[in-house]
Amino acid sequence: MLDLTYDTPKVRTIAGAKQDWELVIGMEVHAQVSSNAKLFSAASTKFGAEPNANVAFVDSAMPGMLPTINEFCVEQAVRTGLGLKAEINLWSAFDRKNYFYPDLPQGYQISQLYHPIVGEGEVLVEMGDGTARLVGVERIHLEQDAGKSIHDMDPNMSFVDLNRTGVALMEIVSRPDIRGPEEAAAYLAKLRQILRYLGTCNGDMQSGAMRADVNVSICAPGQYEKYKASGDFSHLGTRCEIKNMNSMRFIQQAIEVEAKRQIAIVEGGGEVVQETRLFDPDKQETRSMRSKEEAHDYRYFPDPDLLPLVIEQAWVDEIQATLPELPDAKKARFINDFGLSDYDASVLTADLDSSSYFEETAQGRDGKMTANWVINELFGRLKKDEKDISDSPVTPALLGGIIDLIASDAISGKIAKDVFEITYTTGRDPAEVVETEGLKQVTDTGAIEAAVDEIIAANPDQVAKAKENPKLAGWFVGQVMKATGGKANPKAVNQLVAAKLKE
Ligand code: ADP
Ligand code: MG
Repeated sequence: MLDLTYDTPKVRTIAGAKQDWELVIGMEVHAQVSSNAKLFSAASTKFGAEPNANVAFVDSAMPGMLPTINEFCVEQAVRTGLGLKAEINLWSAFDRKNYFYPDLPQGYQISQLYHPIVGEGEVLVEMGDGTARLVGVERIHLEQDAGKSIHDMDPNMSFVDLNRTGVALMEIVSRPDIRGPEEAAAYLAKLRQILRYLGTCNGDMQSGAMRADVNVSICAPGQYEKYKASGDFSHLGTRCEIKNMNSMRFIQQAIEVEAKRQIAIVEGGGEVVQETRLFDPDKQETRSMRSKEEAHDYRYFPDPDLLPLVIEQAWVDEIQATLPELPDAKKARFINDFGLSDYDASVLTADLDSSSYFEETAQGRDGKMTANWVINELFGRLKKDEKDISDSPVTPALLGGIIDLIASDAISGKIAKDVFEITYTTGRDPAEVVETEGLKQVTDTGAIEAAVDEIIAANPDQVAKAKENPKLAGWFVGQVMKATGGKANPKAVNQLVAAKLKE
């Protein structure tokens, strides 16, 4: 098996390959609009309903039925476009994409080939190591989802479930600006994060609410930059499209194996054929599914049942005014206002529940310290219980209470962890826990001094050694902490031990 390792962020050196290669990747992401009703009917979109329970006459293509556009879905597409800093097309139109398949009763899918509702936008993809790439979005169009054929319920029959038929999808088409498997996953993760912030798609890949077709090609080092500068990618390597991926991990694996397959073909003197392929995670290979269809294969034409979709700038402006603060802006603000590191700010803005939990807790407190407690203690503890931040038994007020106790020197950071565990499991108020359990830090130097004197008197040999080697003072500090049940103020203990050993 060929081994793919990064040389630079772009050029890949493949063991066994004759030359270096770069990968070029473009993604078509299907994001299901978070809407209770379908794009052209009032049928429910609820996931997991009885088969064929959510089907209107127009979804099943009963004769004479006409589609009616769902304004809410249009609004979500506009909202998504604005969130991706894209141009909104006030005039767009629906086309019929004709093909025959049992799960498509109309015999065509209503989509927007020629005039999509959203034009060019962008997604900032950060790789976590300080590198980032701006991935262009070519367009977003609204279209209907198809139904589902079920082949594994009966040995002799196939079934069709039309619940998904006609559900609104936003197809978000990227430019071929993605340069490797990790970037592909990071792009998808960022897109999902933005959609979730916007509330336009729940981003759930397992239920199929978000899935991607991944286009992969290879080129000689430097070729991509050349075509990027010219804006015309049509002379880059021939691409293959890997269909219907709904796992970040599989997407990365599929890109790796597909790139290796193409490299082997080209270096063997062959040519990559443009086609649609499927990824088999068990065999770790992509397989040809069908040759590439062109637009004319689908006999696209404007849907005569639907008028062009005309929206007003004033409405777009209204939607713009209600956009929430988006991930990039929120992260920058967390770094600025709370003094967080890039990493901490990324973790805390990963989703809205985490970011609002943090902000509520950090109100009037040290940002960095709050970030540490939220990320290390709270997230760590929740993960152990496989709990979500929204189910946290420790509210921002309770966690804030613990942080206040540390800040006021009432308890040490170490005792605070015990208090946290008690609060986490019982919901008790941290200040009450400290009071009732007698966990208050001993800052009374008299009491600490007595404990230090006692340990020193009981260990003359250790004292002699420590006088020669000051590093051994730590042992005394440990003993004093033990003797005081961890409640002595560590700073005071350190100072007293050092002073006493010098006597
Ligand atoms: P088509 O109309 O044939 O579907 P598009 O121009 O719509 O082609 O592109 C489909 C997807 O393929 C886009 O996401 C685009 O970024 C990607 N793509 C285009 N050229 C390449 C290439 N050379 N390598 C990888 N992906 C590409
Ligand atoms: Mg396309």
